[in-house]
Amino acid sequence: MAKPSGAAGGFRVINWAGFTGAVSYTFDDSNSSQIQNYDTLNALDVPFTFYLQTGKSESTNSVWQRALSDGHELGNHTKSHSSNDSGADTDAATQFIESRFGTKVWTMAAPNGSSVYTGIARTRFLINRGVANNLIGPNDSTDPFTLPCYIPPTGASTTVLDQQVTSARDAKKWRTVLVHGFTGGSDGAYQPIGLQAFVDHVKHSKALGDMWLDSVVNVGSYWRGQKAVSSATTSTSGGATTYTWQLPANFPPGKYLRVTVTGGTLKQNGVPLNWDPHGYYEVALDAKSVTLSP
Ligand SMILES: [Zn+2]
Repeated sequence: MAKPSGAAGGFRVINWAGFTGAVSYTFDDSNSSQIQNYDTLNALDVPFTFYLQTGKSESTNSVWQRALSDGHELGNHTKSHSSNDSGADTDAATQFIESRFGTKVWTMAAPNGSSVYTGIARTRFLINRGVANNLIGPNDSTDPFTLPCYIPPTGASTTVLDQQVTSARDAKKWRTVLVHGFTGGSDGAYQPIGLQAFVDHVKHSKALGDMWLDSVVNVGSYWRGQKAVSSATTSTSGGATTYTWQLPANFPPGKYLRVTVTGGTLKQNGVPLNWDPHGYYEVALDAKSVTLSP
């Protein structure tokens, strides 16, 4: 796409980085059937989010360090998986993951979907995933601390899984999916599904070609970053417009949004941004402002 050459203006964040919609696949409870099938899951080449229940011995498995280096996200599912917490059990899981795997924890998933974690997460994380199914739209009012998610029924077929992605695509929204484990395992996973059904489903999602399949922290940063920039304050000076935003608490560094304009020059920290011929400028969220001048 050619660089916009019209009048300076029309500053707009591109939904879902230019994809039609988004899907995040999450795995809870550090279950052994996830560990046993990790190589098959990783071969799908989609960044997943693994929510570790750190009080389980499976959370010490070396597979999680590999998952991290393979580009997956390790998230917090608390230490003890209680429906009640003062925050201490959540913090114990963060401490475990951060000290053991040398990564920062940005998101959590509420054990049993318990609402107590909505408040706990608000002061600690970017996102808390709940368990009620719904879609998440650009700039909508979905609570990031009770983020919806789809849990497939036991033995769900590829077709049943595909429908959840198709409906997200049709609505141009984001869906998160929660799989606890796979059929045939000995981990007592909640509502396990067949590994092959899941693999075939993810391949179908990839083959659509226009769905953003990525971890909760990656899609979630874009979603929350877009909301921040969409509510930026504007100021004008000498024909230039500056958009200034605040990032939410517990926001990961080094994140970007794709934006477009009708024309003009975009600058951050005085440096002009380069037009990407795929159809966007990349705005660094950390800079907290961008200026559009004629
Ligand atoms: Zn769980």
